[in-house]
Amino acid sequence: MTSLNLQHASLWQTRAHIRGRWLDGDNGFFDVTDPAGGGLVARVAELSPAQVRSAVDAAAEAQPAWAALSADARADFLQAWYAKVKEHREDLARLMTLEQGKPLGEARAEIDYAASYIRWYAEEARRIVGELISLPQNDRAGLVSYTPVGVVAAITPWNFPSAMITRKVAPALAAGCSVVLKPAAETPLSALALMALAEECGIAPGVINVVTGTDAPAIGEVLTGDPRVRKLSFTGSTRVGKALMRACTDTMKRTSMELGGNAPLIVLDDADLDLAVAGTLASKFRNAGQTCICANRLLVHEAVYERFLDKLVAAVSGMTPGSGFDEQTTLGPLIHRRALESVQAKVQDALAQGARLLTGGQAIEGQGCFFQPTVLADVNVSMQVFREEIFGPVAPVTRFACDREAVALANDTPFGLAAYVFGKDTGRLWQISQSLAYGMVGVNETAISSAQIPFGGVKESGHGREGARQGLMDYLDTRYTCLGNLIGQGA
Ligand code: NAP
Repeated sequence: MTSLNLQHASLWQTRAHIRGRWLDGDNGFFDVTDPAGGGLVARVAELSPAQVRSAVDAAAEAQPAWAALSADARADFLQAWYAKVKEHREDLARLMTLEQGKPLGEARAEIDYAASYIRWYAEEARRIVGELISLPQNDRAGLVSYTPVGVVAAITPWNFPSAMITRKVAPALAAGCSVVLKPAAETPLSALALMALAEECGIAPGVINVVTGTDAPAIGEVLTGDPRVRKLSFTGSTRVGKALMRACTDTMKRTSMELGGNAPLIVLDDADLDLAVAGTLASKFRNAGQTCICANRLLVHEAVYERFLDKLVAAVSGMTPGSGFDEQTTLGPLIHRRALESVQAKVQDALAQGARLLTGGQAIEGQGCFFQPTVLADVNVSMQVFREEIFGPVAPVTRFACDREAVALANDTPFGLAAYVFGKDTGRLWQISQSLAYGMVGVNETAISSAQIPFGGVKESGHGREGARQGLMDYLDTRYTCLGNLIGQGA
């Protein structure tokens, strides 16, 4: 088993956490493997459905007392948790690289990003403010206040093992909700380490519970079927998101769905090509292409098409695949063999339909799940790399002739998470950015995310927002109280 020699040994947790206790699984344990080397990393508790139900019991019992705390008290807890995460940044980053594979530099950046949501919602917890409405009758007043939705189930993916957790759990706690968190089976260690730090800050038992296991449908069934769970916040694939949303209808739960993307990146003929290539590299190849807002399709004006390709190929050829623990590495592995096979199949499909392979194109032989950084030119709309989320280090490039065609190509997808456009003419950039059917648009920028912004999509990329004030409102119900007969006896 791989050993990490953590500075803070209590961050190494392999048991689930329910009602303030670390628990073995009724169904034994499951293996977590290292995607870079293929070795066993840890054995983690495999919970039974009854144990998941007991986590809901714990959350339901803990929630009223947590909600009854002052906003200041909840904020103080979040601030303490933030400080712990920052203090143990290096250990948390190393755990993430071990189980997820991303280069250590990216893992450190994700810990900072994850922590930023805790700090942001520590601040926002104090700013849950209602309003007073003037009613038509002058002896009445309408009061609008916000109440926590209650118990929240949070289900998160493996590609951002820490940040996808804090941007759900921090606003939920700020609002006065309790949480049952189910992290991805590939990356439970990061979730359990965050839980250990929350416990050190004195969070009351049952306010955050972490359930682990590989039978995701069974865990999902408990969480979606239980009427005490009042909200499901899910980040993951559109396919699973749709199934979970359907399962939430019987108990009419609120849902937030952060789902898949198929981001276009448009390069106009007046774009700064070096800037566009740098933006492409940062977006397309971060986390080996396994992010929901990855530039998935590069749409390039015909006047700069070949020049852009030359620059892109030169930049991509300079990338260094390898273990995330090697500081030289700029491209980590894919998460597992299935992912590797899926990326390979999409590249084969493009080549069979006439795409031009400019660099890469193959899995890298040996241990681990590495794929060569790849550029495909002359990609058309019928190819899988155009139609589907690739989730790998493959940059497919398509040519366009005018702005209208670029927008039509960009919007030719059921997804609508993030889009990017590079160019110089402000009016043209404005027109294009406003025509893109996406929840987020980056203009001359691909690093668009932070705790301050409402992250989320439209169409089949989901609904709800994470970050910003909107991310807190998603955990609050609106209550209207009518104060009547406001007529004094005196005067
Ligand atoms: P996934 O297969 O949908 O899994 C995501 C989470 O859902 C995991 O915890 C998984 O558990 C769980 N799950 C799977 N089937 C379930 C079921 N029937 N009931 C309950 N839970 C279930 O997605 P993924 O492949 O891990 O993640 C990649 C996807 O996430 C991509 O499409 C990406 O675009 C999307 N994503 C979106 C955002 C965003 O903000 N919009 C951010 C990051 C990622 P197991 O691990 O145990 O299977």
